Amino acid sequence: FFAMNTYISMTAYGDQADSVLEEAESRMKELEALWSVTEENSDIYAVNHSNGSPVTVSDETAENLSFALEMAAETNGALDPTIYPLVSAWGFTTEEHHIPSDDKIQEMLSLVGYEKIRLDENQVQLPPNMMLDLGALGKGYAGDTVIQLLKDRGILSALVDLGGNIQTIGMRPDGMPWRLGLQDPFGGENLGVLSVSDCAVVTSGNYENYFIGEDGKTYGHIIDPVTGYPVESDLASVTVIAAEGKLCDALSTSLFVMGQDRAVNFWRQRQDFEMILVTSTGEISVTEGIADQFSPADNEEVDVIYR
Ligand code: ADP
Ligand code: MG
Repeated sequence: FFAMNTYISMTAYGDQADSVLEEAESRMKELEALWSVTEENSDIYAVNHSNGSPVTVSDETAENLSFALEMAAETNGALDPTIYPLVSAWGFTTEEHHIPSDDKIQEMLSLVGYEKIRLDENQVQLPPNMMLDLGALGKGYAGDTVIQLLKDRGILSALVDLGGNIQTIGMRPDGMPWRLGLQDPFGGENLGVLSVSDCAVVTSGNYENYFIGEDGKTYGHIIDPVTGYPVESDLASVTVIAAEGKLCDALSTSLFVMGQDRAVNFWRQRQDFEMILVTSTGEISVTEGIADQFSPADNEEVDVIYR
């Protein structure tokens, strides 16, 4: 089915799989209805049209926003849930892509800054004209919610695919790990195969949602909150592997903003995720914790990143 701007497919094995998957689908649609930027009844819409007044939001929205703010701080603002005015100025919200004027970019940059959001339990206060958008991590959070629901209903083996965000429960029914084909950011057949169980795998890059400007340059949908321009990364894609989808989703977007060196430093400071980087020149590197589980296509060379 289609939700959260993407195609979602869910596979579960077990007695009640059919009815559990139906329940999961409606849960996903509930979350979409809370977080839609355009749907007038959503929590996010209410906050974005509050003109600076406090708004009471659902527990799920408060939790998701709280996590977004935590990750924004931990990534030094590489992830910024208030980036929407810029995403919109570049036309990514309407598909009417264009390069904004420098004045426009400066004006929009003044409306970006996660530190200005106030969150107190279920109350959110956002300064006038600023806009919240949980698009960079909503799918991950929704995936976690659905995975938990499936587990609560006794499902021991499942794979949820939210437009390329993959989350798994257990092993395949034949007892083997799930084998995930990772997308080649340069449009080739496959980057390689990752064997996993019980985890989330999320990729970000600028290879899917981008446009070519009047100046002939390529502009992608991930925006650098410092410059206000689409990220010109030395990376083509970042895949993050971790227990939870929300961490993977938040990190894949922000590590892409950081670029290779900062991403590797960030990984060295933490113990809660692994990653696969593809540079803009096509080199693949894999962090040591996941290296054994990744087999590149065509025996491509892979660098291992050590702690
Ligand atoms: P996708 O949604 O395509 O899977 P991501 O998870 O990487 O990709 O999220 C990208 C989306 O997040 C963009 O389309 C945009 O709405 C929003 N975004 C862009 N740049 C940032 C940023 N620096 N911080 C937070 N959100 C961003
Ligand atoms: Mg993301």
